[in-house]
Amino acid sequence: MNYTAILQEIYQQISRLPVTGTVAATIPELAKVDPGKFGIHLTTIDGEDYGIGDSEEKFSIQSVSKALTVAMAFASLGERMWERVGVEPSGNPFNSLVQLEYEKGIPRNPFINAGAIVIADMLVSQLKNPKQDFLEFVRTISGSPNINYNSKVAESEKQTGFRNAALANFIKSFGNIENDVEEVLDFYFFQCAIEMTCKELAHSFFFFANEGMTRSGRQILTQSQVKRLNALMQMCGFYDESGEFTYKVGLPGKSGIGGGIAALYPKNFTVTTWSPGLNEKGNSELGMNALELLTTKTGMSIF
Ligand code: GLN
Repeated sequence: MNYTAILQEIYQQISRLPVTGTVAATIPELAKVDPGKFGIHLTTIDGEDYGIGDSEEKFSIQSVSKALTVAMAFASLGERMWERVGVEPSGNPFNSLVQLEYEKGIPRNPFINAGAIVIADMLVSQLKNPKQDFLEFVRTISGSPNINYNSKVAESEKQTGFRNAALANFIKSFGNIENDVEEVLDFYFFQCAIEMTCKELAHSFFFFANEGMTRSGRQILTQSQVKRLNALMQMCGFYDESGEFTYKVGLPGKSGIGGGIAALYPKNFTVTTWSPGLNEKGNSELGMNALELLTTKTGMSIF
């Protein structure tokens, strides 16, 4: 497969499209990002790298981090983590509160905010120095020791994260948060404020495509655990647009309101895109377009 040529074609086709979508407005610091940015990076299972556009520029990974926190929690807790968070699509927006009341504080899945906040609580309980330990985990799986978080973005979200505070307090009222709400939210805003390039993100997601093993040969999860998380990304990674993403792209993946998307074709490649313009579901418009072009041109999708 000539990925250099394919990415070039995609890049040219995307460049001809108007920059539509809106940059995330709920986090003021993110609203400052240039909406014209676009990057795509693909890493094959053999370790070859192909990138084009702004693929080596750092951006806020936001909810893409939820795939990494759930992996870390799954590695230490195993199946018992599913007693506190479900494995079903929610069909609702990422920051919705509606299902939580009648489902008694058990979020539908780990990729909506409610579920990711419960996962954050698990990590706060499990880890000695949650922020530092998670950052080390991300640096290890990506092979990039210079990955860090943006304190301005984390602070900006803390100032305006009223919905996340509501979700966390509501879940706590059902007894499904063990730690202080403040501490859990602080960790959650931290994980969302981590910055990576498309290339670093593609490397971080490598173990999802490689049966649980990182590029440097570390077994993070078992083959069966990775199957489960990839299935969850397929069903829930794009919230109430997960069906649309599956229909158009046909790969498991995870989006974030920083405009990033990480997707993968098991045993073949990981691919990441960054374009800050979001559609009304909070997913990157051009990123989804680019990935649709990729699987349509190559025929490389799991379906
Ligand atoms: N930090 C964001 C929030 O909690 C992440 C949401 C997202 O990327 N979809 O609102």
